[in-house]
Amino acid sequence: GKASFKGYAPIRQDFEDFFTRRIYYRIHDVFNCPVKGPPSAWMDIIERTPVNRQKPLMATGKIKRCLNLGSYNYLGFASSDPYCTPRVLDTLSQHGWSLCSSRADAGTTPVHEELERELASFLGKQAVLTCGMGFATNSVFLPVLAGPGTLVFSDALNHVSIVTGVRAAKGTVRVFDHNDPVHLEQLLRQAMLEGQPRTHRPWKKVIIVVEGIYSMEGEVVDLAGFVAVAKKYKAYIWLDEAHSIGAMGATGRGVCEHLGVSPADIDVLMGTFSKSFGACGGYVAANKDVIDYFMAQCPAHLHATAMTPPAVQMVLSALRLITGADGSDRGAHKLSQLRTNANYFRSRLLHMGFNVLGDWDSPVMPIMIFQLAKLSATSHEMLRLGVAVVVVGFPATPLLTSRMRVCISASHTRQDLDYALQLFDYVATKCDIRDPPLAASNL
Ligand code: PMP
Repeated sequence: GKASFKGYAPIRQDFEDFFTRRIYYRIHDVFNCPVKGPPSAWMDIIERTPVNRQKPLMATGKIKRCLNLGSYNYLGFASSDPYCTPRVLDTLSQHGWSLCSSRADAGTTPVHEELERELASFLGKQAVLTCGMGFATNSVFLPVLAGPGTLVFSDALNHVSIVTGVRAAKGTVRVFDHNDPVHLEQLLRQAMLEGQPRTHRPWKKVIIVVEGIYSMEGEVVDLAGFVAVAKKYKAYIWLDEAHSIGAMGATGRGVCEHLGVSPADIDVLMGTFSKSFGACGGYVAANKDVIDYFMAQCPAHLHATAMTPPAVQMVLSALRLITGADGSDRGAHKLSQLRTNANYFRSRLLHMGFNVLGDWDSPVMPIMIFQLAKLSATSHEMLRLGVAVVVVGFPATPLLTSRMRVCISASHTRQDLDYALQLFDYVATKCDIRDPPLAASNL
């Protein structure tokens, strides 16, 4: 039945709630939806009309408390954290909301420098440069390296920020089959024979751009395969760790740690702060000369507003939790909880007959729906029952591979996950989206 949650309905929230990303709520008219679990696992969202290509998404004005399986709050830091929040508030009172200036002008505080130093040592790289936005870290920094005479190889399923970056580059761009180092090598071999005369390498440099975990596939990159090709052809590797930094690897150091590849073999480790770090912004980590080059040449470093100091402090505090520099094992516990939750959820989904993409340990789980026509009904039903998921269909995916994407967080409790699984089972039966024969081959 309906429930109302008195005492949980303030219109204006204090600072702490601002940091929990709950900007405005008035809980009412919640259908059959229990409120439980830590706020990081649950969220209040404004209901919208179903996706319709003729009309824009419209807010219905209703606000609903949902189990959050839709956003990338992998370690749960995006919500108020007893270690991070007081430090963020201190930084806010000391440096203000924004420096309203680029890093190269007046936008650098000691907190920015501390974060870049500590992140470089965490990642095993000489230097790090942060940027106000993860998307821009790909779309603006990549073209700086990929000037005329550069050949860029981009994975067919790379994120749109990478696609934007390589399209803006003055170099030549080629796309290889998703996560396929063998296809990449074929293209590279052909490319090395191009140009006249054939007495020297026809390209000034070659850059291979891949992601750590593909956000719509939940799949881990074949990093060892790409490193072998890169070494053979003296190419550079740009690795986007948006979904893997702080989420993969025993100590959260990303896919290099997870797969046993040395960070020294990756030329640029790129990542964002909008997932495991629970904030926003992005970074590149590389040798000092590469970072110096970015500082001199990158328009976003020179002319875009720097990460705001409270966001920098949030990332720094989350990083210290991950490394244990806060003096506790809370970060390590969150990392192992994320892995336990992700593998539990994936194995239960597979046993329930869903066709789930991706690899073990990956917190990103696309569940195939196949029939585009059922996408809207599925997402609507999930929302009605109080579970927020992301559904993706054509044109974002090929016509026949629509999917519902789930992201697991360390802050989900076992009850949260079981509650979601129960609803998935119900919705899958109601909307008839399960595909048992294919799912069996996944086990
Ligand atoms: N790279 C990848 C792989 C992403 O998935 C995203 C966004 N989800 C970005 C870059 C952009 O990061 P941000 O949202 O922090 O701007």
